Amino acid sequence: MLNSEFAPRQAHTERMLVSVVWMTSGLGCDGDSVALTAATNPSLEELLRGAIPGMPGVVLYNPMLAYETGADFMRTWYEAEAGRLNPFVLVLEGSVPNEQINGEGHWAGLGVDPDSGQPITTNEWIDRLAPKAAAVIAIGTCAAYGGIPAMRNNPTGAMGLRDYLGWDWTTSRGVPIVNLPGCPVQPDNITETLLYVSLQIAGMTPPIDLDDQGRPAWLFKRTVHEGCDRAGQGAHGKIAERFGDDNGCLIKLGCKGPVVKCNVPVRGWMNAMGGCPNVGGLCIGCTSPGFPDRFMPFMEPDRLGLLAARTARFSYGALTRYLRDRAMRNKYEVEPEWRRPSDELETGFQLQS
Ligand code: SF4
Ligand code: SF4
Ligand code: SF4
Repeated sequence: MLNSEFAPRQAHTERMLVSVVWMTSGLGCDGDSVALTAATNPSLEELLRGAIPGMPGVVLYNPMLAYETGADFMRTWYEAEAGRLNPFVLVLEGSVPNEQINGEGHWAGLGVDPDSGQPITTNEWIDRLAPKAAAVIAIGTCAAYGGIPAMRNNPTGAMGLRDYLGWDWTTSRGVPIVNLPGCPVQPDNITETLLYVSLQIAGMTPPIDLDDQGRPAWLFKRTVHEGCDRAGQGAHGKIAERFGDDNGCLIKLGCKGPVVKCNVPVRGWMNAMGGCPNVGGLCIGCTSPGFPDRFMPFMEPDRLGLLAARTARFSYGALTRYLRDRAMRNKYEVEPEWRRPSDELETGFQLQS
C-alpha cells in the first residue's frame, strides 16, 4: 500500500476510502505506472493525501509502487476478491492475452495459487475482481484497445479489456469500463480520471461522461491538430522539411495529429511542459484504437498528409498568409492616428451640451 502512512488518519476522520487495485500484469511495459508519478494537476501525492477538499480518501495498491512484496502485497488482491475492500476501483494496465491459445503455459499472471502452486493468470484475476469492483479503468492503449502487444502477427491474441469482458459490460453499479488511452497515458489524465471516479463512487459527481470509444469525453473531444501550437503555421503554409526544424507544421514528416484525438498538445506532458508536436515530435496516434498498426510506418507521411502539405503551401496557405500579413501591415500593427502630440483633440470625443 503506497500511502499506508496516510490511511490511519483517513480512517480516523471516517472519510470514505476508495481503494485503487492497479494490476500491471497485463501485457505491457508499466509505462503508465511510471507516468502516474509525473502527474502535477492533481499530483499523485495530492490524490493520496486527500488534498482536494471533500474528496474521499484514495489508497493505491500498485505492484510497481508498493513497499510490500510477495504474500504481503497479494493480501489486498484476496481481500478484494472476498468483498472486504469496499469500494474499490480495478485498474488494468497492459492488454489481455488470449489464454485459450497459450499452449501448455500461460501468457501473463500475478501471484501463485496456493492449492495448485501454479501462477494465477491475469485473466483469472480480471474474472475474480471485475464483478466486485465499483468501477473499472483500462489504463493505457494496451488495456483499452490492445495497443502494441495486439499488433498484427502477435502470438498472444492480445486484446483490450472491453474486447475481453464485452463492450457493453458494466460493474454491478452500472458503470461502464473507462478507457483511458495513451502510450503512456498523459499523467494528469490519469490522476484526474481517478479523482473523478472516486468522487463518483462517493456520490459527489454525475456518472462519468464517456464517448463512443469509452474515453472520458471531456479529455478526448479535440484532435491533436486542434490543440497544436504549430497549427497556425500550417494554416499559413509553413511546413517543416526535416526533423529538428523549430518552425512549421510536421505534416510532411508524417504527423498524424489531424486524425487523432488527444489533449497532450493542450495539456503538455509534465507540469504543462512539452506536448509531442508542440516540441517537434510527430504525433504517432498512440491514443487511437487503431494504434499502432493503422499509423505505421510512423515517420513517413501518408498520401493525405502530403496532399495537405502541398495544398497548404501552394494554395490557401500562401494566400492566407499574404492577406493576413497585409492586414497586419496596414491595420492591426498600425497605431491609430490620434495617438500623437497635437494642438487638437483628434480622438473623436465630443462633450455633450
Ligand atoms: Fe506500456 Fe504503452 Fe502499453 Fe502503457 S499503453 S503499458 S505505456 S506499451
Ligand atoms: Fe497538425 Fe501535426 Fe501540423 Fe501540429 S504538427 S498542426 S498536429 S499536422
Ligand atoms: Fe500520442 Fe499523438 Fe497524443 Fe503524442 S500527441 S500523446 S503521439 S496521440
